[in-house]
Amino acid sequence: MAIYLDNNSTTPLAPEVIETMTDVLKKHFGNPASSSHSFGWFAEELVSIAREQVASLIHAQPEEIVFTSGATESNNLVLKGLLPCRRVLSSPSEHKSILDPLTHIAKRGVEIDYLPLDTLGHIATRDFEICLERKPSLVSLMLANNEVGTIHDCAHLFALAKSSGALTHCDATQALGKIEIDVSALGADFVSLSAHKVYGPKGVGALYVNPLSASFLTNPLLHGGGHEHGLRSGTLNVPGIVGFGKACEIASQRLSLDRVHLESLGTKMHRGLKKAFPEILLNGSSEYRLPGNLNFSIPGVKSDQLIGALSTTLAISSSSACQSNDAQASHVLRALGFDKDRLQQAFRLGIGRYTSEDEIEFAIEAIRKHGHICLNH
Ligand code: PMP
Repeated sequence: MAIYLDNNSTTPLAPEVIETMTDVLKKHFGNPASSSHSFGWFAEELVSIAREQVASLIHAQPEEIVFTSGATESNNLVLKGLLPCRRVLSSPSEHKSILDPLTHIAKRGVEIDYLPLDTLGHIATRDFEICLERKPSLVSLMLANNEVGTIHDCAHLFALAKSSGALTHCDATQALGKIEIDVSALGADFVSLSAHKVYGPKGVGALYVNPLSASFLTNPLLHGGGHEHGLRSGTLNVPGIVGFGKACEIASQRLSLDRVHLESLGTKMHRGLKKAFPEILLNGSSEYRLPGNLNFSIPGVKSDQLIGALSTTLAISSSSACQSNDAQASHVLRALGFDKDRLQQAFRLGIGRYTSEDEIEFAIEAIRKHGHICLNH
């Protein structure tokens, strides 16, 4: 098996999550909406425990959590659910699950403004203030970028947005469990989350909805039984939700432990690669960066060749998994203004909770060896 260094794409399930989910899958098949018997009551109890666990990790209240099928759905729910909405302010380095719904609502008459980014992926306050003069109804920004790891100062930007009368949405998918998230301090009306980036299962996520702003979400994506306050109809995915809850509980307990681990392995990887390739370039911010995320370009080494040569030994990627079949270069790196060479040389390493020091040493050596072979061709 190859060493897994693609944790920004997805994370393995935490063993405790597997155990908890297995128990639910084996024993607790009830429908939480069945209010007339104990099978339903028990399932409902499991969901409400998970709702507390998810809420607690972001310092929200359980009733503010709407379970969805993942962050793609949460993002779509906000961007399409707020229609009719006049103008949205966002950034070109957002995930496709923001950019594509933005294109979709633009066709329905919503004006979209995209903020300029600097070469590290940051938004300048002055640019943000200028864009706010156009009075967006909604500001949607990710907390941390999935490709280059740059963290936006969303608390600061959202405070400005709020004072200009905008609603605020934060795609916090990559940040969950890696950096502290407090929805009140963040000043977000809506926050998108996904379980599979935090050692939980795929196909489950959540949208935090500030109760003061809930009335603006007038168009749910799914109509039906009125589950999740009418915002997301459909029988709840109980095992997935329970797994997500458990993953959040573990992340709450291990937040600083995980952070220290990711940062120390990240530093080790960066130093090792710098020694092997003194010209190596770090893509994204070094100061405000998601722990565990590294994105490099090695001058003279095309990343598709390097990744191909390493594919049986190391699981790494050139861009987000959601577009890894896309022949086009990463829209994130293009938004940062990279030239063609740096774009073609970029690769992402995602270190995780279960990555070991030995694996980092092995990875450095493998990249050194194959990188030098690619350099000489
Ligand atoms: N936003 C960001 C920043 C992401 O990294 C991802 C997953 N790559 C998503 C949204 C979509 O999440 P999901 O896979 O849960 O739909």
